[in-house]
Amino acid sequence: MSYALELNDVTASYGHGSILHGINFAVPEGEVTALLGANGAGKTTTLRAICGMIETGGEVRLFGEDITGKSPDAIARMGVAHVPDGRGTFTGLTVMDNLRLGALIAKRRGNFRRSLDRVFDYFPRLKERMGQHAGTLSGGEQQMLAISRALVSEPHLILLDEPSIGLAPVIVKQLFGILEQIAQDAGVSMLLVEQNSNLALKLASNAALLEVGNLVAQGSAEALSQNQDIARAYLGDG
Ligand code: ATP
Repeated sequence: MSYALELNDVTASYGHGSILHGINFAVPEGEVTALLGANGAGKTTTLRAICGMIETGGEVRLFGEDITGKSPDAIARMGVAHVPDGRGTFTGLTVMDNLRLGALIAKRRGNFRRSLDRVFDYFPRLKERMGQHAGTLSGGEQQMLAISRALVSEPHLILLDEPSIGLAPVIVKQLFGILEQIAQDAGVSMLLVEQNSNLALKLASNAALLEVGNLVAQGSAEALSQNQDIARAYLGDG
């Protein structure tokens, strides 16, 4: 099997005190992997470590290449798109300018028109709102914009941090339907951090479970969702 991403004994800290204590897991190429765990387990920190945003030890490999210690900018240019916690859209800019920035920041040689058309096929609402400031969009639309901004950089790997947070169940359902389509169509690999474990395990083909900075389980999404001990301890929230 080839992997989009491999974490080998990865440690991370914010200066004092270690947050990740040497975690190992991999994201198979072209598949969705869910990263689950309770509040404070270190899920967001793991995504930041992959993106080069914090001090990281061990080894992070992207399509076999060691990217540990590279800058966030270099990692973005190598095809990693991060959709952060809280979405990170520029609220004072229009939808279109947010999308232009997505393509620019990654400095990748894609065809912006073509990726824009593709994004608008997935999210027609954004096309209607093209000239509107991102800050005037609904929560669901802002999440769609954040995902679209990642997509226009034509990434090989998308890191999604809690896309369902703060959204009404009906919007979450719609959003996850589109994420499923994106995963199927584009062959893009995804690492999905979610509080809503049951939802994540429906979309993902495999999963890893974090507990206070340690990886405590990993395997196929099906196996994890059927494991009674894990379900009782961690998966009762979906
Ligand atoms: P949540 O769903 O609550 O975001 P999480 O699993 O994503 O949980 P992290 O956000 O990665 O967890 O946090 C892991 C630990 O790191 C927590 O103890 C948190 O307090 C700490 N932490 C997070 N961000 C920082 C920071 N900027 N500086 C110092 N400590 C931090």
